[in-house]
Amino acid sequence: MTAYPQTAEQFAALWDDEHISKIFPSDTRHSDLKKYLDQLRKMGLKIDQVGLSNANREIYQIEWGKGPLKVFMWSQMHGDEPTATPALIDMFAFLQKNRDKDWVKKIGETMTIRGVPMLNPDGAELYQRRNLQGIDINRDAVDLKTPEGRLLKQLRDEWSPAIGFNLHNQQELTTVGSTPKQASISFLVVFGDEAKTMNPGHERNQRLTSAMIAALNKFIPGHIARYADDWTPTAFGDNFSAWGTPAILIESGGLNGKDEMYLVKMNFVAYLTALNALATGSEKTQDPNLYINLPENGSGGLIHFVFRGANLVDTSVTPVAISPRDISAFSERRRASFLRSIKIRAIGVQLPVKGFQEFDLSGFNVMQRFGKAKTGELADLLVYKRERNIDWTSTDLEKQFPPDAIFSAGKWIKGENLIPKR
Ligand SMILES: [Zn+2]
Repeated sequence: MTAYPQTAEQFAALWDDEHISKIFPSDTRHSDLKKYLDQLRKMGLKIDQVGLSNANREIYQIEWGKGPLKVFMWSQMHGDEPTATPALIDMFAFLQKNRDKDWVKKIGETMTIRGVPMLNPDGAELYQRRNLQGIDINRDAVDLKTPEGRLLKQLRDEWSPAIGFNLHNQQELTTVGSTPKQASISFLVVFGDEAKTMNPGHERNQRLTSAMIAALNKFIPGHIARYADDWTPTAFGDNFSAWGTPAILIESGGLNGKDEMYLVKMNFVAYLTALNALATGSEKTQDPNLYINLPENGSGGLIHFVFRGANLVDTSVTPVAISPRDISAFSERRRASFLRSIKIRAIGVQLPVKGFQEFDLSGFNVMQRFGKAKTGELADLLVYKRERNIDWTSTDLEKQFPPDAIFSAGKWIKGENLIPKR
């Protein structure tokens, strides 16, 4: 027993009650971040503008706590990887609001936490990975061609934190090993050299990560994986570890059936678990094997949509060919409020992939709406009952032969109840 036995369930309940982030991470703009920071300032938190992006958007650092252990956390160096930004806001708001509770006070006496939410505000505004120069900031740790990368290095070098949290998102189709389960959170305890040399900071981070895994296992068991630990000499996580700030990478993926806020909560639970474990010293007795034995990230086994056994019409040959095929389709990364474009990933016989949604189109003939169905084209599908007699080569097919069902932009816009689900 530690002196302050906080549990993961309590952290989750506290987030439910107290989180101040109200906008989906993917819809959170720099202007929204500034409003959150105003709220934090009014609560008495120390917030400094520490730099500017290429387009002169302000980059801020939040500080909380007075203890000697220096913890540094930054989010959204990739503009379209937003989950941790509101999670950091919620964490700082919570710590400040509850600073008089004994276990929170203990955290503030043990450590000083600095957080940079949305390191790449220009990329966030464009909802793209890279910064305005088109440079991946996470490959700029050595060249330092970007103002955002230079700032991140400067903030580290001036302060020499003992731990770094490098906060990202990964593709929502990333799986746990070769299972068809989504990797909703992936961790990497980042080595500081190619030889993967162990040191006390790395070992502590393995234990700390195991504490976070144990907490998240209460909510998303089987959905936690390990990010590939290839040495990337130009990346910030690797270099933070090399420069003396052992880093932990946290990647938020997806969790089908839950919205984006759920993963904000999971991040919040992970952060508070780590801070509490450091403050109480419970990390010292944590078994690192939960981390060490995590399955690695996998890919390829999951997809957003699969249409099974569609009798696919090909009008590019004479006579028109119709052959049974599975069609898989994926959704591109977009802001929550934007229409997603759904594109065809593969066409084949019995595709070895699991769809979040699968439909049985064996009773139907299927025609791509805007041309020939092939990889990379929009998965806009015109669906006809097989018994109907259709002149597939007629101009303006959709008008002359109204389809029985239409799949467009990720949903059935006509005839949904005709289509058997699998
Ligand atoms: Zn990233």
